[in-house]
Formats: sequence, C-alpha cells, structure tokens
Amino acid sequence: MASGSYRNGTSYSKPTKLDRTTSSTYTTPKPISKSRVSAGGGANIRRSNATPLTVKDDAGVPGRVRVAVRLRPQNSEELVADADFADCVELLPELKRLKLRKNNWESETYEFDEVLTESASQKRVYEVVAKPVVESVLEGYNGTVMAYGQTGTGKTFTLGKLGEDNIAARGIMVRAMEDILADTSPSSDSVSVSYFQLYMETVQDLLCPGNDNIAIVEDPKSGDVSIPAATVVEIRDQQSFVELLRIGEAHRFAANTKLNTESSRSHAILMVHVKRSIKGRHDGEDGFPVENGQASSLVKSFRPPIVRKSKLVVVDLAGSERIDKSGSEGHTLEEAKSINLSLTALGKCINALAENSAHVPFRDSKLTRLLRDSFGGTARTSLVVTIGPSPRHRGETSSTIMFGQRNERLKYQKDYMDSIKKLEEKWMTNQQISKSNKSWIGSHEGCMDGGEASVPSTSDGMNDDKQLLKNEKALRQSSEDEVSSLKSQVTQWKRLEAAANVEIVKLQKKLESEAHQKEKLEEEINILKNKLLQLSFEADETRRSLDRGGSGKVFSGFDAFMSHARSSQIRDSANGQKASIAKLSEQVGLQNILSLLESEDADVRIHAVKVVANLAAEEANQEKIVEAGGLSSLLSLLRSSEDETIRRVAAGAIANLAMNETNQELVMAQDGISLLSITAADAEDPQTLRMVAGAIANLCGNDRLQTRLRAEGGIKALLGMVRCGHPDVLAQVARGIANFAKCESRASMQGNNTGCSRLIEDGALPWIVKNANNEAAPIRRHIELALCHLAQHEVNAKDMITEGALWELVRISRDCSREDIRMLARKTLTASPKFQAELRRLRIEC
Ligand code: ADP
Ligand code: MG
Repeated sequence: MASGSYRNGTSYSKPTKLDRTTSSTYTTPKPISKSRVSAGGGANIRRSNATPLTVKDDAGVPGRVRVAVRLRPQNSEELVADADFADCVELLPELKRLKLRKNNWESETYEFDEVLTESASQKRVYEVVAKPVVESVLEGYNGTVMAYGQTGTGKTFTLGKLGEDNIAARGIMVRAMEDILADTSPSSDSVSVSYFQLYMETVQDLLCPGNDNIAIVEDPKSGDVSIPAATVVEIRDQQSFVELLRIGEAHRFAANTKLNTESSRSHAILMVHVKRSIKGRHDGEDGFPVENGQASSLVKSFRPPIVRKSKLVVVDLAGSERIDKSGSEGHTLEEAKSINLSLTALGKCINALAENSAHVPFRDSKLTRLLRDSFGGTARTSLVVTIGPSPRHRGETSSTIMFGQRNERLKYQKDYMDSIKKLEEKWMTNQQISKSNKSWIGSHEGCMDGGEASVPSTSDGMNDDKQLLKNEKALRQSSEDEVSSLKSQVTQWKRLEAAANVEIVKLQKKLESEAHQKEKLEEEINILKNKLLQLSFEADETRRSLDRGGSGKVFSGFDAFMSHARSSQIRDSANGQKASIAKLSEQVGLQNILSLLESEDADVRIHAVKVVANLAAEEANQEKIVEAGGLSSLLSLLRSSEDETIRRVAAGAIANLAMNETNQELVMAQDGISLLSITAADAEDPQTLRMVAGAIANLCGNDRLQTRLRAEGGIKALLGMVRCGHPDVLAQVARGIANFAKCESRASMQGNNTGCSRLIEDGALPWIVKNANNEAAPIRRHIELALCHLAQHEVNAKDMITEGALWELVRISRDCSREDIRMLARKTLTASPKFQAELRRLRIEC
C-alpha cells in the first residue's frame, strides 16, 4: 500500500550526482534537457519497489507531478448556508487520503501525495508544495507549481496572496521569490520575471498591457521555450517584486474588463528566470570535462564564464468549473472550448508523464507548449488541487479531484475493488468446501457403524485419502487466507489508530485553546471588577457630596423640596462625578454591569448594585436600564438577597426607576409591590425603609394603579413603616399618602369613585391627624395636601369630622404659611355642606 502513494506504483530516486552535473550547468542553451523532457523521467534510475521511500525523498522527485490537495475553510456564507449539512469532504492527512461523501452511507476515497486541511498554514503549504521545486530551481533545474480548482476555492490565495498586512498570509509566489533572493547574490546572479495571462489561446503580457497575442518560441535543438516579446523585469529586492505582482494583477483586471470576461477564465503565469554564475568550482561538478579525476589545466587557465540557467513557472489556472454549457453563464462556445482545451491538454500531459508514456502531447495547447521545458523530465512539478467544503459543489469538487487523480490512481482504485471481489469469491469457495467436508465425515461415521459389510475397497481407500488430502489443502488454504485477512485487519487498525491519534492531538489543541479562552475571560472579569470598584467608589463619593448638600438621598429629582437645599457648588461637583460614572460605565458596558448583579461574589454584587442605583438616578439612563432587564434584576435582588445593604440600594434604584408611569406599571406587573411590602415589614434600618417608602410613594401617584396597589397591601405597608419614626421615612410615607389622596380626589371629581377613601378605610386618618402639624416641613406639607385632597370628596366628611381632621383643616386654612395650600383648605371647607353644618353647629367661623 505504501507504494500506492506514488503515481506509477514505482518510485524514482533523485538524479545521481553525475546526472545533475550534466543537466544543471549550461554554458550554451542546454542540449541535454530535450532528451530529458521527452523521456518523461526515463533518464532516472528506478528504485526497486521494495525500497520504501520517505515523503521527503518523494518531494524532490523530478519527472512526475506531485499532487497535493488543499481544502479551503468554510467562508461566512457557507457557515450560514451549509450549517445544517455535513461537509462533503473528509480529510485524513495522516493517511494522505481524502474521502468524498457520496451520500449518507457511501463515500469514495482518494490518495494524494499530500493532504492539506483547512487549517494548514500558508507556510506549510509553501513548504510542502513549492519549496522542493524552488530548491531544485536554485540548483539549476526548471520547475512548475500550479494550482487547479473551481473558482473561489483558493488558487490565488495559495499562489498569489501578497500578504502585505499579514506576512503569515503570503502565498507561494512571494515566498518563492524570498527564498530565491536569499540564495542568490546580486553581484553574480540575476533574477528576472515575466508575467502573462493566457486567455483563449492568446498570450498577453501583464507587465505591458498593450503587448498582447505574443508568440511562444521553441528552440528546436534545446527544447527551450521562450517568449522573446515579453517584458522581462530584473528583480533585486522583495519589495519591487511585490509591486510588480500588484501591477500585473491590476493589468489583468483591466485587460479582462476590456475583454468582458472574469479573471477566473484565464490562466495567470509567472515566470522567474534565475541565472547563476558558477565560479571557482572545477571539480567536475559544474560540467567541466574531468580527466583522471582532475580538471584539465587548459580549462583552468581559459575558463569560460559559466552561467547556470533555470526557471520557475507558477501557474494560477483558470477555474476548473464546467463551463461547457456555452451561454449558460454568458460564455461563448469559443471561450468554453479554448479554456477547456488548455486544461484538458494539461491533464493529458500529466497523465502521459505519470504513465511514462513515450509521447507527451505538449503541442496540444498554448499552455502546455509554454510549460514544455519546465514540466516532466528533470523538471519538478507540483500541482495543488484546491477544493471547497460546501456540499452544494460536490459535483464540481468530485471532478476537480479526478484531475489530480487520473488514470493511474483510478486504476489503482479499480485493482483494489477487484481484489476485494476476488477475496469474497474465495471466501464463498471456502465455505462450500467446509460444508462438503462436514458431510463427508458424517457419511464415513455412518460406514464405521455399519460393520464389515461396509469396509471400503482399496481403490475406495485411495480415493478417500485423496479426498482427505484435498480437504487438508483446502483447510490450510483457508487458514492462510484467514491469517492474511487478520494481517490486513491489523494494518487497518493501525491506520485507524493513527487517525485517532491525530484526532486526540486535535482535541488536545482545542482543549488548550479553550483553557486559554477561559483564562482570557477571567482576566476580563477581573478588569471589569476593577472598573466596577472604581465606579462604585465614585458612586459613593457622589452620594456623599449629595448628602453633604443636605438631601440625604440616593434617589433625587422627585423631591421638589429637596432640590432647594442643594448648593450649586455641590451640585457641580456631584455632576462632575456623575459624568465620570457615566463615562466609566459606558466603557464597561451596561449589560456587563447588570450581569455582575448576579455575581457569586457578594462584594461584586454590592458594587454593581450601587453603580446601577447611581445610573438609575439619571433620567436619561432609566430607559436603557429597564430595556436591558435591570428592573427585573433589581427586583430579584430584593427578593433573594440576604444582605441589608444590597436590599437598601436595590430599593433605592427601584424607587428611582419608578419615577415614570411606564416603569411604575412594570414594577407592579412584576409583583414589585409585594416584594416592597415584605421588605418594608422586615427592615429595621431607617435608610432601607426610606428607600422602600420612596418607591411605594412613587407608585401611589399613578391613577391606574390605585386599586391594585391597595388590594396588594401597598397602603398598609406604607403605614406600617411609620413605626420607625425617622423623619426621612415619615416624609416618604406622607408623600405617598398625599399622592394617593390626590389620585382619589381626581377620580371622584371625574365620577369614577363614589365610595369612601381607601386611605381612611385602611386606617390612615389617625396618623394623618396626628402629624398634620409635624414640625418637620416635608412631613407637614405632604399631610396638609393630603387633608385638602381627602376633604374634596363629600363621602369622607363624616369620618374626617369624627377623627378630628376638620380642626386640622380649619387650622391650615388659617395658619398655613403656604398661601396656595391655605387657599385650597379654605375652598374645600366652604364647598362641603357637611363641614359647613358642623362649623355652624359649633358656631365656628371660617
Ligand atoms: P480562486 O483563485 O480559486 O478563485 P481565491 O484565492 O480568490 O479563489 O479565494 C476565494 C476566497 O477565499 C478569497 O476571499 C480568499 O481570501 C479565501 N480563501 C481561499 N483559501 C483560503 C484559505 N486557505 N484560508 C482562508 N481564506 C481562503
Ligand atoms: Mg483566482
């Protein structure tokens, strides 16, 4: 099987030293090369089949074409379009095989000299495909590197990629020139380049666009092929070469636009001519006549200048897709024919060389004529077959692969199938023999039992012996077959093991890269944590400056009274800090901050919730936070967190978000009122209660939520918090009551509410009356407003009179320092018949 990887089933050695001497040094155009070209490797020494060759040896074999296959990675379009389909190719690089899937249960296997997977680097591709050819060119032989494949599979990527932005991406042309320049000396050697395209059997100079339809000339004696009219540019450094390739490519594009065709329809051919002066070597290696092992003295004194010439041809072939349906893609029949002509001719030459055929049909096309002296014979040739992974192009891929395989490999495959068939037949025969054996033994046992009458005659005995011998032979044969089948199974298993090992290495690499990824993520988390810490520090600072300003609130903005207390200086510094928080959190990303609310690290959770609360204090951020799911996260913190600080800050943030109607409804929809009520019942810390009361107070101001808010215990929770007695908490409770009373009075004025106030029903009135004259202004003001609102609905009058609220109203209408409230109280008293009657009864004037 090992020899199966060689095209002829036999292998060639490198030329011997003598061989190279005669072929590689030319003072005049080489006379020897012709015979080598036409001999198709005939001048080489054959090695016996039994000698195994390493791949490296094989890489330098002249005369035959080394074929590698390269799979292009899926592109973004294929990633989407082919996501649900299995790839149509499977590579087994260790076994140098490619499996082409026919359908779910069948596939065909092909062998190549090299199998390059989608992850093969450009460097590796160069080393495997082109480097042996380049080295041989530097030693004085001609060589060719070609890429064949469907358009879009990576021929130009493999050969012509300039890789200016990314040197790892450089293709074969650039890398080859780099090696050539590194190995030659500008003072004694010359490297020059021509660049053409071949389209519809005409040669166009890509370095001089006007120069088209130029002639190919063959020296009848030497067999050298040249294009005298072509532009030849001397190359001294890599940069100018890259520049030249770029110019060539631009001209190619322009020429094809003019001809109204695509680049994929033409062959691009780069020729690198290397001329090397060989000095000071006269040991026979450079082609001097050697007499008795010593160079003649005549040669020593009159040494002619020795120039060794060779060329490297790099061919980016036209797309291999079948375009024979002329017109189907806007191609003329002429074009289809001529493109096929060159590719077909090339295929025929490759096959003729592979089969050691006496006739290689170089003359059949311009392309093969051009390649004549750099293809076969002493020249080294590499073909890289490029394919794509898409199952949609399976048909094209299959025919592309066949180009690389051709007759000899297919013959090999047929032989393989024949052998299997033969083995099967043999197995069937064995089965039959063993059956007949069994029946023979059975019948003889019967004879023994029968006694004397059945003793066989002598001739019968002979026959039996013969039969026994025959059976013996058959048995031995079948055991031998079994042994050989076991052997082949072992080989098979070894291969599978090799493939499995490759898989293991791959998995290990994947594991490593995943570990690396994890490390990176952890690093990122750390960075985020640090940024968060900084943010939370700034948040604390902001809060402190606001506290210093007298508000004592994290949530700000809704409390009109508080805004008066802030000095502008403090506001400025707080604004500065807020801006820097906004900036930092923009860097970190809201989503990242929110995700840290669920961090396992309690510290991280605290910092994160502080930052969110600070952001939520800004109206501009509120919508973004809610959209990103921040409200839900905060509510779930309230539900699940054991930590008082977290609950306090989360409630503050919720209070801030609950400043607009949409968010208020969202809080209710997510069962926020029960969560706030539970927190209100459990909390001891006045600051926590202040936040919770603030949040409920905001909800109390929404007309649409009245019924639900009360039904779910919102009012009771609010009133329950007065137990703490802290003026900040009481102020929020009073604000909530005022908000609720205002909504109720609005509803009753619109005729939507006919019953007694829910506040009164829930027992708020005694507390209201008791605090109506509270010395803390924020509490007093809210309660005064609440009383005015309650008094506007006549059904409340009776309770208000019995609970003593009427007296407070009278006091407000007389003494309140705010004129608007004073007037409102007076108006309300006058408007109520019940209040009027009571006042008259007590002879009080209002
Ligand atoms: P062709 O010359 O065969 O028509 P190209 O070389 O132009 O194909 O390649 C088609 C596209 O696929 C290009 O965008 C190219 O960059 C990309 N490509 C080809 N081969 C590879 C590869 N091995 N790795 C990454 N991208 C590739
Ligand atoms: Mg291309």
